[in-house]
Amino acid sequence: MRNQVAPLRERVTGSTCTLCQKHFAELDLLTCPECGEKGILDIEFNYDVIKKDLTKESLAANDERSIWRYLPLLPVEGKDIEHTLRVGNTPLYESERLGKEWGLGKLYIKDDGVNPTGSLKDRASAVAVIRAKELGYETISCSSTGNAASSCAGNAARLGLKTVIFVPERAPEGKLAQLLIFGAKVVSVIGDYKATFDLSKAAISHYGWYNRNAGINPVMSEGKKTVSLEIAEQLNFEPTDWVACSVGDGCTIGGVYTGFKDLYELGLIKKIPRILGVQSTGCKPFVDAAALPQPVLVPAEENTLADSIAVGIPRNPNKALRAVRESNGKWIAVSDDDILDMMRVLGRNEGVFGEPAGVTATAGVLAAVKQGIIKQGETVTTISTGSGLKDVKNALLAAGKSTRLEPSLEALEASGLLDK
Ligand SMILES: *Cc1c(COP(=O)(O)O)cnc(C)c1O
Ligand SMILES: [Zn+2]
Repeated sequence: MRNQVAPLRERVTGSTCTLCQKHFAELDLLTCPECGEKGILDIEFNYDVIKKDLTKESLAANDERSIWRYLPLLPVEGKDIEHTLRVGNTPLYESERLGKEWGLGKLYIKDDGVNPTGSLKDRASAVAVIRAKELGYETISCSSTGNAASSCAGNAARLGLKTVIFVPERAPEGKLAQLLIFGAKVVSVIGDYKATFDLSKAAISHYGWYNRNAGINPVMSEGKKTVSLEIAEQLNFEPTDWVACSVGDGCTIGGVYTGFKDLYELGLIKKIPRILGVQSTGCKPFVDAAALPQPVLVPAEENTLADSIAVGIPRNPNKALRAVRESNGKWIAVSDDDILDMMRVLGRNEGVFGEPAGVTATAGVLAAVKQGIIKQGETVTTISTGSGLKDVKNALLAAGKSTRLEPSLEALEASGLLDK
């Protein structure tokens, strides 16, 4: 049974600028009309209306097994939602072995790599394509380090929308292959992510496509917040002390916080988890900014093999910094070696295969435990944001080589492989 949902205009009151704090009543603004591109918006919900449609009881009775079970909290009308890919409802595994080894009360891994195109980005894309269709667009476009792109293309294909995608040249082949299979027009930009983003921006405004750029369009972090709604529901509305998340543009961590904040405002959880924002030491503009008395983002190098979080100039700084600040969380950086190690650790101990940026949050948890930021006995959820199959080259770098043998038992015995 799908639950009843109030009309969009009753659930959403408009949006507020994260910079100048002005409220705008119209729907579907991209950025603040006064501040321009830096004026990232928050979509504002009327919790009094949503409270009627979204309760523990209505959720228990709802057999929709995707992000659309949270439709009251999403900024779409929701007409075509049965035509989308199945996004969300990803598993939350308790990691008993690692939790114990690291001295934690509980450790959970939210494996978002099992989304239809293999990353958490599907949560944003599913909402974006629905909204684009509701608004009558035929083409949707974005620039991306890879996952947003493949996710946008896959979700759009299912709904019959066209996509034009801008990726930096360095995007891993797995992600490029997805894009091309989903029928996107793919522009591989000679240059870094900044150059890619700037070209997409110019093209989107020139051709009038729907803009799925995560840093800009506030609909994206609203889609991503469903990961927190799921985590809370899976933990019976008692989320862990900490939730860890890897950070590139900052849209994901912003959404993670918003999801818990929504549940708090609705009275469904009593406490918002502390958010741990994790970056690679090779690209850590947020970690550096947060270390200053007044956080100022300075463009950083994009020097990490975790391509999904190699974002030197984050597009969504306000929401990301706020997530950590208001949840009393922390920022932390881990090295690429720590990230490769964690790919092996999660694979071996839990059967979870994450791409480098996918396991970065968990590497951050281990580092935070070692530094005493996360205390012994505390409970933690770590989000694995993308599948390792997207980036086989780095997976092999982490995992090493297989043993090559003549096809005989003697050779197998002699190889020593089974002694280890
Ligand atoms: C995009 C992405 C991130 C970071 O999300 P942002 O919104 O850019 O901060 C982390 N991990 C994976 C696998 C991603 O694709
Ligand atoms: Zn503004």
